[in-house]
Amino acid sequence: MIDLHLHSRASDGSLTPTELVQLAATRGVQLLALTDHDCLAGLPEAQTAAQTAGIRFVTGVEISTTWQHKTLHVIGLNVDPGNGELNVGLAHLQAARGIRAAEIGRRLSVHGIQGAYAGAQRLAVNGNVTRTHFAQWLCDSQHAGTPPKAFQRFLARGKPGYVATIWAGLEESIGWIHAAGGQAVLAHPLRYAMTRSWLIKALTAFKQAGGDGLEVICGGDNRDNIATATHYASRFELAASVGSDFHNPATPWNQPGIEASLPGNLTPVWAFF
Ligand code: AMP
Ligand code: MN
Ligand code: MN
Ligand code: MN
Repeated sequence: MIDLHLHSRASDGSLTPTELVQLAATRGVQLLALTDHDCLAGLPEAQTAAQTAGIRFVTGVEISTTWQHKTLHVIGLNVDPGNGELNVGLAHLQAARGIRAAEIGRRLSVHGIQGAYAGAQRLAVNGNVTRTHFAQWLCDSQHAGTPPKAFQRFLARGKPGYVATIWAGLEESIGWIHAAGGQAVLAHPLRYAMTRSWLIKALTAFKQAGGDGLEVICGGDNRDNIATATHYASRFELAASVGSDFHNPATPWNQPGIEASLPGNLTPVWAFF
């Protein structure tokens, strides 16, 4: 079992890095990467926990990226967490997150919901505020029943609390990952709500910008999704990555651990670690 896409409390996951690694180990994961949103803060603790649990650990990060006014998630695997270029880039994204969080709070207050910004900040123990924290606060304060409903009513594109943000450019996020010696993987290609022709444009741009891999199996994917992503990985000559995108124990379809066998004759991205 492998898992190269997981979140801890350093971004919008609910478990500490140690709890996350222990859960993954219990489920039979032998190779794991922690990939928090725009943030490396959980890596040292996860690395120590992996050593204790006797499983192989790879550093990671999921970088918020803007391409053609759309948000893409580019995962960096096996990056040097001490790399200056990567750290400076991520610091800019964290600053953008902070500004966006204040603006989300302002818009929600105009919409009649007070206290969301402070509430989301309290939930983001690491200071790395994501929309997931707003969704959680909206549930805790009875404004929404579940996090997906909070997104649907308040936080998704076009809703009252949505704030369009310009994240890293595609060349930038891939460039930072390469500067840090890592592999750049396009996460969950079928979850961008793009038409197939836009997805093909995005994959073309990703490959052209130096992208290395594609996440061909993501938590909750069905056979058709996996077959489609496998086709794109072959067509664009991208290595294959697999990851659950685990955030918390409440979503049974994306618990840690994916079978390590790959479809077709794809090159596993972990062959490069
Ligand atoms: P952000 O990067 O702050 O915009 O937050 C994006 C995160 O919100 C994603 O990584 C998911 O964890 C979460 N998310 C996005 N859409 C939804 C949704 N519809 N329901 C629940 N969580 C979502
Ligand atoms: Mn997330
Ligand atoms: Mn993502
Ligand atoms: Mn993710």
